Amino acid sequence: MAARIDLHTHSTASDGTLSPAELVRAAADAGLDVVALTDHDTTAGWDAAVRALPPGLTLVRGAEISCRWYGVEPAIPLHLLAYLFDPTEPELVAELTRVRAAREVRGERIVALLRADGVDVSWAEILAGAAGGTVGRPHIAQALIRAGLVASTSEAFGPDWLGERYRLPKDDIDVFRALALVRAAGGVPVFAHPRASRRGRIVPDELIVDLAAAGLAGLEADHEDHSPAERAHVRGLAAELGLLVTGSSDFHGTHKTVRLGAYTTDPGAYERIVAAATGVTPVASG
Ligand code: AMP
Ligand code: FE
Ligand code: FE
Ligand code: ZN
Repeated sequence: MAARIDLHTHSTASDGTLSPAELVRAAADAGLDVVALTDHDTTAGWDAAVRALPPGLTLVRGAEISCRWYGVEPAIPLHLLAYLFDPTEPELVAELTRVRAAREVRGERIVALLRADGVDVSWAEILAGAAGGTVGRPHIAQALIRAGLVASTSEAFGPDWLGERYRLPKDDIDVFRALALVRAAGGVPVFAHPRASRRGRIVPDELIVDLAAAGLAGLEADHEDHSPAERAHVRGLAAELGLLVTGSSDFHGTHKTVRLGAYTTDPGAYERIVAAATGVTPVASG
């Protein structure tokens, strides 16, 4: 049977609900052969995931980096998956630290907007809910659920709440700078859910052409936020540009309904990622 490879998951090191140790065990239980841990803007979950790695599972250490394309006004946010980079590379470490701090600034401002409208949510409680992991809007969504204002995370991302009315930008990394930093750290950058228009504005294909020339290695095609037509479009673009194609669950535990391994990556694309990386190696338990 072909290897089952899921290259995009989140743990409690960011906005997932399983700890890194629980995540790798769940990945093995889901029948995966390879799983990537790609928490938002952090590598904090890597070591715990390595320590808990069950036999037969290979861990790809990664992160999902909050980027922005400043070529239009207002700038468009986008996510870069970065695989197998050196987690000690100082400039990259500094940028990730800065973005995590910017997330806290933005989160606190969103809470202030909510409170100004009489919504009783507390920033201290939201920070405590993130338990030291990278704070994101899903943590604010949990506070809205606890307050009985919405029934689910997806409702909290609707236009009346975090999706529009109480949506604020955060200070992300310029996408070209992020590409350069990931490559300099020996990592392999893949554009996460590039056509996920449900989440907000998407970038034009012309930008993807420029990103490919600037070191982008691949595009995530198979993702729950892409329609079949969008997946086909992304595959076609990747073929034109010589980029590899991935498929992934973007698992977030109970913050989303998608299951581990719901979408997977072909072994050939995975091999290309491993071959291109010089930062750290995949880890298999001994
Ligand atoms: P942030 O990183 O704080 O901007 O929040 C974005 C995160 O919210 C994404 O990584 C997803 O985990 C989550 N998210 C975005 N849109 C939705 C949605 N419609 N339903 C549930 N979770 C979402
Ligand atoms: Fe997330
Ligand atoms: Fe993402
Ligand atoms: Zn993600």
